[in-house]
Amino acid sequence: MSNRNLPVLAFVLPLLLPLRTVGQAPANPAFPPIPIDATEQQVHQAVALVRAGPKLAPKSWPNGARVAVCLSFDVDNELLWRRKPEPIPLSQGEYGATTALPRILNLLDRHAIPASFYIPAMSAALHPQMIQDILQSKRHEIGVHGWMHENLASVEDAAKEQQLLTQSIEYLTKATGKRPVGFRAPAWEFSRYTLDQIRQAGFLYDSSFMAMDDPYELISNGQRTGLIELPINWIADDYPYYEPDSSGSLPDPQLVFDVYKGEFDAAYEEHSLFILTMHPHITGHRSRIQALNRLITYIKSKPDVWFATLEQVAGYVKAQQGK
Ligand SMILES: [Zn+2]
Repeated sequence: MSNRNLPVLAFVLPLLLPLRTVGQAPANPAFPPIPIDATEQQVHQAVALVRAGPKLAPKSWPNGARVAVCLSFDVDNELLWRRKPEPIPLSQGEYGATTALPRILNLLDRHAIPASFYIPAMSAALHPQMIQDILQSKRHEIGVHGWMHENLASVEDAAKEQQLLTQSIEYLTKATGKRPVGFRAPAWEFSRYTLDQIRQAGFLYDSSFMAMDDPYELISNGQRTGLIELPINWIADDYPYYEPDSSGSLPDPQLVFDVYKGEFDAAYEEHSLFILTMHPHITGHRSRIQALNRLITYIKSKPDVWFATLEQVAGYVKAQQGK
């Protein structure tokens, strides 16, 4: 192996480690393993709960833009340490509110671009000023990200989950003065009940799934749901690169910039959608904000880019349907 390959390995290995961990995770009883001798019909049934329906990529974006760019932030803060709330780990999350979010909002203001923020209600309760600060520019969207950043697949109680969802919507409606229209599942986990519940709650869109790069409609057990999916993915997420808890970390923001830039460049070529998911307490550190600034500056240097909230993208996609 030549030394030239070493930086590549240093980059790839941390990405593989979380996958191996996932493969060894114990099965969730609500989602039993698919047996190797399952029939074709059983395999279809086992994957049917949430599937990709029709692709909803519009023929063009507003004003002839080639690409829609969405910066999104999951404001989890202290709640990521909910199960083990020891003082020093908690302070890593607290940093998200004290330092990182103001720094991010300042960056977005300097570029005059919008973003979407998904906030667990109890994360907002710990730092009520966050919502006021996000709303100040009137450019940003606030969406639902659970009550306590609960892992919905583990709640495994439809009534309990419904209660948490209702509380979350009510909390954000009261705090922002507007009913949220977007849902992003805490920890990117759905239970057997989540899709039905968010559909009945009247959300315009979900942003938790990864079955396409373009917007698409979610289908459930063969039925169309009318819910627009604005897909995310682990490649365009800060957690696997920066966070030691994900079994590895990539401390060089320039390499993360390169990955994000590659994803954006291809989305631009494909006239598609680029959604970046970040967490204030992770990306809001000094060197990482500088890399994000370079990324935004690079994206803005390209003609015909539409910076939008996910709400704006979903609204546009919905308006274009059937045209
Ligand atoms: Zn989260």
